[in-house]
Amino acid sequence: MSSSARPPLHTQPHRPYLQEALALAREAQQAGSSPVGAVLVDASGTVIFRGRNRVGEPQSAEHVGDASVSHAEMDVFFQAGKLKDPQSLTLYTSLEPCLMCGGASALLEVGRLVWATDDAWGGAGRLIAWADHPAMQDTEVLPCPEADLEHEGAVLFAPEAKRAFPDEGWALWRRRYPQETADVE
Ligand SMILES: [Zn+2]
Repeated sequence: MSSSARPPLHTQPHRPYLQEALALAREAQQAGSSPVGAVLVDASGTVIFRGRNRVGEPQSAEHVGDASVSHAEMDVFFQAGKLKDPQSLTLYTSLEPCLMCGGASALLEVGRLVWATDDAWGGAGRLIAWADHPAMQDTEVLPCPEADLEHEGAVLFAPEAKRAFPDEGWALWRRRYPQETADVE
């Protein structure tokens, strides 16, 4: 799609949506899953779908589950089904999307991706430059627009990064977020 034909994205502040994604990340953590949350927002600024990581939970008709690919973004996309005017939508996540979820966002032509906190190991940005990727040219990418929420997201995910990632991955996290990872046991 050419940029001139692009439908408008919402113009509301990003902060409340990132806060909601972080709240869903905490909900995932309380459910015993990985602390990541996501919300999909339409052109008027309305949250139309909410998702969270559901690894280890059963799959249902309403949400993806029971597999290590049951990421928060995929939970949103499973609920949403066929997207109407995907280029007018903004996907907010508590943590930088992985290659699968970033790739799905590009395939679905989601207009904008915003995340609270970088993922130095699992995030797609470790492997590709978001802005240079040919499939991402119709998706605006906005990493970490709110410094305090970036901090909050890093503190929330750091224990999971240490538990789930190999030593190399944890080392990348410690380098990216030295303050937030300092006290993780
Ligand atoms: Zn993912």
